[in-house]
Amino acid sequence: MIPVTKSFLPPIENYFEQIKKVYANEWLTNRGKLVLELEEKLKKHLEIDNILITNNGTIPLQIALKLLGNGGEIITTPFSYVATTSSILWENCKPVFVDIHPEYLTIDESKIENAITKKTTCILATHVFGNPCNIEIIEKIAKKYKLKVIYDAAHSFGVEYKNKSIFEYGDVITCSFHATKLFHTGEGGAIFCKNKNLRKKIYYSHNFGHNGPLKFHGLGINGKISELQAAMGLSVLPYIDEILESRKNIISIYHSKLNYKNISTLKIREKTKWNYSYFPIILESEKQLLKIQNDLNTKDVFPRRYFYPSLNTIKFVNGKKMPISESISNRILCLPLYNTLSLKEQEKVIQIINNETN
Ligand SMILES: *Cc1c(COP(=O)(O)O)cnc(C)c1O
Repeated sequence: MIPVTKSFLPPIENYFEQIKKVYANEWLTNRGKLVLELEEKLKKHLEIDNILITNNGTIPLQIALKLLGNGGEIITTPFSYVATTSSILWENCKPVFVDIHPEYLTIDESKIENAITKKTTCILATHVFGNPCNIEIIEKIAKKYKLKVIYDAAHSFGVEYKNKSIFEYGDVITCSFHATKLFHTGEGGAIFCKNKNLRKKIYYSHNFGHNGPLKFHGLGINGKISELQAAMGLSVLPYIDEILESRKNIISIYHSKLNYKNISTLKIREKTKWNYSYFPIILESEKQLLKIQNDLNTKDVFPRRYFYPSLNTIKFVNGKKMPISESISNRILCLPLYNTLSLKEQEKVIQIINNETN
């Protein structure tokens, strides 16, 4: 079977080495030595000066919205994973969708101002497939209307924009270290914030609000990651350049061998050092997509319709119509992309698609 992705598994000996440390420390969670070591290594690797790693990539969104959303309206994108929208609803805020750019697939910044009302508190946008939003324009709008900017950067590990980590842009930035993401800890995530005061609040929010064992700064939740997950992260991190290189290679083969007459793919924003996290193709129609998906499935290839459906159309969301996002969602397919995908397997995928799109 050729799946859309496979989690990178480091050599088991390396993982054992890390787990042995956990046993020696006799310490399993509550920001133990491995978590702290992983944070230091990630700071170095990403060239950033703050990171708080968490138990997944969704709790950071909820913490950010709890602290900044204020129960108001959140301008957001309909083209993302469901967690982006469900976190807004979970925190009793209201998602206000703004349609996406048809090529970059990120929120269409030119349509944001029209959606702002007196109740708007934040902009929550996703760097889709690691492709940055129009950061400058969004920042300008946020300043003008005194809004906070939260970026769902779940896909963006290692992405650089204008020679700086993508995690440097915005008021609060979240990432996911889920097993299917580029860098992973099995389950896990991270939250980034430049402002010291806000960072303090984020920190206590992810640890039940504790101020020492007996006192509380305020309301909190459990967003802590365990030493066992940090052990996986520490085992995966040394391979990250290798992982990136193999993905880059696979994507360049897709580019050179796919017949682009009737399909298109993601357009990466200028001044971006991308992370090759996903390889989506956009087809002419949903009918064509279903045909191709069916052909691939019968030959044991399982791409993923990602993102589908457009989040504004989900029943419990019930947002306004978003023509571009809905159209793209109906026609987009992420192709197999993982470091052990062989050339032969990839050529099989390409051939099936080229046959259908000629
Ligand atoms: C994966 C993902 C999340 C959620 O991350 P988890 O670690 O699975 O909680 C949020 N947003 C986007 C865009 C994602 O792809």
